[in-house]
Amino acid sequence: MSTIYLDHQATTPVSASAVRAMIRHMEEVIGNPHSADHSLGWRAAEVLEDARAAVARRLGAEPDELVFTSGATEANNLVILGAWSPDTPRSRLVISAIEHRSVIGPARELARRGMELVVVPCGPDGVVEADRFACEIDERTLVAALMLTNNETGAVQPVRAVADRCNEVGAHLHVDAAQAFRWLPIDVLALGCATLSVSAHKIGGPAGIGGLWIDPLRRPGLRPLLHGGEQEGGSRAGTVPGFLASGFAAAVAELLDDGGVANWRAATERLLRRLRSIEPGIVLNGPAEGRHPGSLNVRVPDVEASRLIALMQPEVAVSLGSACTSGLPEPSHVLTAMGLTAEEADRSFRISTAPSTGEEDFDGFARALMRALETARAAG
Ligand code: PMP
Repeated sequence: MSTIYLDHQATTPVSASAVRAMIRHMEEVIGNPHSADHSLGWRAAEVLEDARAAVARRLGAEPDELVFTSGATEANNLVILGAWSPDTPRSRLVISAIEHRSVIGPARELARRGMELVVVPCGPDGVVEADRFACEIDERTLVAALMLTNNETGAVQPVRAVADRCNEVGAHLHVDAAQAFRWLPIDVLALGCATLSVSAHKIGGPAGIGGLWIDPLRRPGLRPLLHGGEQEGGSRAGTVPGFLASGFAAAVAELLDDGGVANWRAATERLLRRLRSIEPGIVLNGPAEGRHPGSLNVRVPDVEASRLIALMQPEVAVSLGSACTSGLPEPSHVLTAMGLTAEEADRSFRISTAPSTGEEDFDGFARALMRALETARAAG
């Protein structure tokens, strides 16, 4: 029996075309893309630059504005830690309470170095109010970080609505778009941000590569995290894994159009109705609209989610929340920021589908969930 995979927000299976692109790259491209002295190096650089152009184009950006990183975690760290220097005249960081740990972690690190860290709460639906966020931004603000789509609830955040305020006072607006890139058309200029991070393994590409778009005017202000090489225009030392970049570009070529997103969303809504028919007490954590089309964070009234998930092994892969905090004893910071009690957060889990998830997967999941609920309740 194969496991029904409903944890696509943790990572997506690598698409067949991304696998093919990576194999072709490993078989055919020999040189280091940073070897400037010979034709094999030039060829490797050409392939790498094609991949960069493909990813940048999908963000509405120029190729030389995109830095390849090891993923969105590194991109988020690069922006927040890289914007800081001991003599920076700006003393304030503003982030939302629902940011990914890879934003919260470096922000806390800067707080340890003496910056003031302002954490803006979200509403009960998991959406940060634009005015509330914008009113914390002033001339003292170095970086403001607001993600485009939350990884636990799928809630879309009002990035465009806070951009003008950031730009007015010269604050650096950073957008973590790791969970948005797969389905939301992104145009960095229209969004009005200074930097934006993406990750290949959230869109059908390989883990181990991501990208940071940097507004060219902001680039001089960002200090690299990795030193010891002039790769990536000096923003990140180290050889770029060309085959991963080729896989990333192949995945980008398969991003959905509006029709694909609408079908995906409709399937997820059918799944939610199905779950409610099994368990009428199920509550959706997150907004009813303005959500990632494959994301459902739900809670059951009386059973711990970790128990339910364990009872569904090995049939179904769903998760308690973010894979990056998996195993941490404390309840999700996203759900508690929405006002859930620790007990409610413990009864919540995330189901995340792919556009290709079929009705037979829903059937199998529904059966497994019903059995798990029965067993858990029978055991008290
Ligand atoms: N930001 C968000 C919103 C994410 O969902 C993730 C992945 N869990 C990351 C950042 C980190 O991405 P990566 O795994 O590429 O480092």
